[in-house]
Amino acid sequence: MHIKRDIVEYAQRMEKTGLVVGTAGNVSAKVGNIMYITPSALPYSEMTEADILEVDLTTNAVVAGKRKPSSETPMHSNIYKHNASIKAIVHTHSTYATMFACAHMPIPFVHYAAADIGTEIAVAPYARYGSEQLAINAVNTLGDNNGVLLANHGVIAVGETLKDAFRRAETIEEVARLAYGSYLLNSVKPLSEKDLADALEGFKTYVSG
Ligand SMILES: [Zn+2]
Repeated sequence: MHIKRDIVEYAQRMEKTGLVVGTAGNVSAKVGNIMYITPSALPYSEMTEADILEVDLTTNAVVAGKRKPSSETPMHSNIYKHNASIKAIVHTHSTYATMFACAHMPIPFVHYAAADIGTEIAVAPYARYGSEQLAINAVNTLGDNNGVLLANHGVIAVGETLKDAFRRAETIEEVARLAYGSYLLNSVKPLSEKDLADALEGFKTYVSG
């Protein structure tokens, strides 16, 4: 099944592109009522299709796979339940975006590319990793956006495909890096409401290359 192969590919790409270090982060995708998710504590370079777990979204029970599912399984599952159009989730601890998460600061939209995420990249209140409370906080703060920060923790990016979710995880990190530089230059100039609305309109028909 392609979905498992794709999850392994994007999980490995997440490490190769520096969005995570070590075994941090996780990747999942949904088909019907089944969530496919990366295992806990397995180095990405060693990961194969056989390591991907299958979780029933109604019961949260593992229905196939021998490994322990990612510790953030409740968060992934809650996000899929919150919005049926979300079919893929990439969770990273990418450095610049996580700096904003640690500072409890939303990432200002200093670059038009941020419109791919929606109207804001807000910070969900802190709760212990892997907890039900973190799952609730993430969903509440995500709203209708395609990405959210987790206070003192990391980044969530979502999409209808793994390709979309991964591109957004990269975009969040890139915009965070640009925003960080803007703060250093003492001149943070987010897009105006009108310009953001205009960019959002453009992203509605955006087809990634
Ligand atoms: Zn994490």
